[in-house]
Amino acid sequence: MTLPLTGGCLCGAVRYSISAPPRFQFHCHCRDCQRHSGTGHTSRMAVTLETLTVTGELRWFRVTGDNGSGLLRGFCPTCGSAVVNEPERLPDLRMISAGTLDDPSQFSPVKSLYPERAPPWDVVIPG
Ligand SMILES: [Zn+2]
Ligand SMILES: [Zn+2]
Repeated sequence: MTLPLTGGCLCGAVRYSISAPPRFQFHCHCRDCQRHSGTGHTSRMAVTLETLTVTGELRWFRVTGDNGSGLLRGFCPTCGSAVVNEPERLPDLRMISAGTLDDPSQFSPVKSLYPERAPPWDVVIPG
Protein backbone atom coordinates (compact mmCIF):
# COMPACT_ATOMS: atom_id res chain seq x y z
CA MET A 1 0.00 0.00 0.00
CA THR A 2 1.31 3.40 -1.00
CA LEU A 3 0.51 6.26 1.39
CA PRO A 4 -1.12 8.65 1.33
CA LEU A 5 -4.12 7.04 -0.31
CA THR A 6 -5.85 9.62 -2.47
CA GLY A 7 -9.13 9.70 -4.31
CA GLY A 8 -12.21 11.65 -5.16
CA CYS A 9 -15.61 11.74 -6.80
CA LEU A 10 -16.42 11.38 -10.49
CA CYS A 11 -16.47 15.13 -11.24
CA GLY A 12 -13.43 15.95 -9.10
CA ALA A 13 -15.16 18.48 -6.82
CA VAL A 14 -14.62 16.26 -3.76
CA ARG A 15 -11.10 15.00 -3.05
CA TYR A 16 -9.58 13.19 -0.10
CA SER A 17 -6.29 11.97 1.30
CA ILE A 18 -5.68 9.19 3.85
CA SER A 19 -2.38 9.27 5.73
CA ALA A 20 -2.36 5.84 7.43
CA PRO A 21 -3.42 2.30 6.46
CA PRO A 22 -7.15 1.61 6.86
CA ARG A 23 -8.25 -0.23 9.99
CA PHE A 24 -10.57 -2.59 8.12
CA GLN A 25 -11.47 -3.26 4.49
CA PHE A 26 -14.72 -4.95 3.58
CA HIS A 27 -17.71 -5.39 1.31
CA CYS A 28 -21.18 -4.74 2.72
CA HIS A 29 -24.07 -6.56 1.04
CA CYS A 30 -26.89 -5.07 3.15
CA ARG A 31 -29.95 -3.84 1.26
CA ASP A 32 -29.17 -0.19 2.03
CA CYS A 33 -25.73 -0.60 0.47
CA GLN A 34 -27.27 -2.31 -2.56
CA ARG A 35 -29.63 0.61 -3.13
CA HIS A 36 -26.94 3.16 -2.35
CA SER A 37 -24.42 1.65 -4.77
CA GLY A 38 -26.88 0.47 -7.41
CA THR A 39 -25.25 -2.96 -7.37
CA GLY A 40 -24.70 -5.94 -5.05
CA HIS A 41 -22.59 -4.31 -2.35
CA THR A 42 -20.49 -1.36 -1.31
CA SER A 43 -16.74 -1.71 -0.88
CA ARG A 44 -15.36 0.28 2.03
CA MET A 45 -12.23 1.14 3.91
CA ALA A 46 -12.62 2.13 7.56
CA VAL A 47 -10.14 4.91 8.32
CA THR A 48 -9.67 6.92 11.50
CA LEU A 49 -10.94 10.47 11.45
CA GLU A 50 -7.55 12.02 12.18
CA THR A 51 -5.95 10.31 9.15
CA LEU A 52 -8.56 11.61 6.67
CA THR A 53 -8.58 14.99 4.93
CA VAL A 54 -11.55 15.81 2.68
CA THR A 55 -11.81 18.86 0.43
CA GLY A 56 -14.95 19.96 -1.40
CA GLU A 57 -18.59 19.91 -0.42
CA LEU A 58 -20.47 16.73 0.45
CA ARG A 59 -24.19 16.25 0.97
CA TRP A 60 -25.38 13.80 3.59
CA PHE A 61 -28.25 11.33 3.65
CA ARG A 62 -29.01 9.79 7.04
CA VAL A 63 -30.34 6.25 7.35
CA THR A 64 -31.02 4.04 10.34
CA GLY A 65 -29.31 0.70 9.80
CA ASP A 66 -30.60 -2.75 10.67
CA ASN A 67 -28.61 -2.56 13.92
CA GLY A 68 -30.63 0.52 14.94
CA SER A 69 -27.81 3.05 14.73
CA GLY A 70 -27.60 5.96 12.35
CA LEU A 71 -25.37 6.20 9.33
CA LEU A 72 -24.66 9.34 7.35
CA ARG A 73 -23.97 8.59 3.68
CA GLY A 74 -21.93 11.38 2.12
CA PHE A 75 -22.05 11.99 -1.61
CA CYS A 76 -21.00 14.65 -4.09
CA PRO A 77 -24.00 16.92 -4.79
CA THR A 78 -22.81 17.52 -8.35
CA CYS A 79 -22.03 14.04 -9.68
CA GLY A 80 -23.67 11.84 -7.02
CA SER A 81 -20.61 9.70 -6.26
CA ALA A 82 -20.77 7.95 -2.88
CA VAL A 83 -17.53 9.02 -1.20
CA VAL A 84 -17.64 8.60 2.58
CA ASN A 85 -19.93 7.31 5.34
CA GLU A 86 -20.04 8.45 8.96
CA PRO A 87 -21.28 5.73 11.35
CA GLU A 88 -22.85 7.48 14.34
CA ARG A 89 -21.98 4.55 16.61
CA LEU A 90 -18.28 4.76 15.65
CA PRO A 91 -17.66 8.53 15.53
CA ASP A 92 -13.87 8.18 15.20
CA LEU A 93 -14.18 6.22 11.94
CA ARG A 94 -15.07 7.15 8.39
CA MET A 95 -15.90 4.62 5.68
CA ILE A 96 -14.37 5.50 2.32
CA SER A 97 -15.78 4.02 -0.91
CA ALA A 98 -12.96 1.96 -2.42
CA GLY A 99 -14.04 2.66 -5.99
CA THR A 100 -13.27 6.36 -5.51
CA LEU A 101 -9.55 5.68 -4.93
CA ASP A 102 -7.22 7.08 -7.58
CA ASP A 103 -5.68 3.58 -7.58
CA PRO A 104 -8.46 1.11 -6.64
CA SER A 105 -5.93 -1.76 -6.63
CA GLN A 106 -4.77 -0.42 -3.24
CA PHE A 107 -7.99 -1.85 -1.76
CA SER A 108 -7.84 -5.41 -0.37
CA PRO A 109 -11.09 -6.44 1.33
CA VAL A 110 -10.94 -9.22 3.91
CA LYS A 111 -14.60 -9.75 4.75
CA SER A 112 -18.15 -9.59 3.39
CA LEU A 113 -20.72 -8.15 5.79
CA TYR A 114 -24.32 -9.45 5.43
CA PRO A 115 -23.26 -12.12 2.88
CA GLU A 116 -26.68 -13.80 3.23
CA ARG A 117 -28.27 -10.71 1.67
CA ALA A 118 -26.11 -10.76 -1.43
CA PRO A 119 -28.07 -11.47 -4.62
CA PRO A 120 -27.14 -14.68 -6.47
CA TRP A 121 -25.13 -12.76 -9.07
CA ASP A 122 -22.97 -10.93 -6.54
CA VAL A 123 -19.47 -11.99 -5.41
CA VAL A 124 -19.06 -12.75 -1.69
CA ILE A 125 -15.75 -13.28 0.15
CA PRO A 126 -15.83 -16.83 1.60
CA GLY A 127 -15.90 -17.18 5.36
ZN1 LIG B 1 -18.44 15.05 -7.88
ZN1 LIG C 1 -24.25 -1.98 4.10
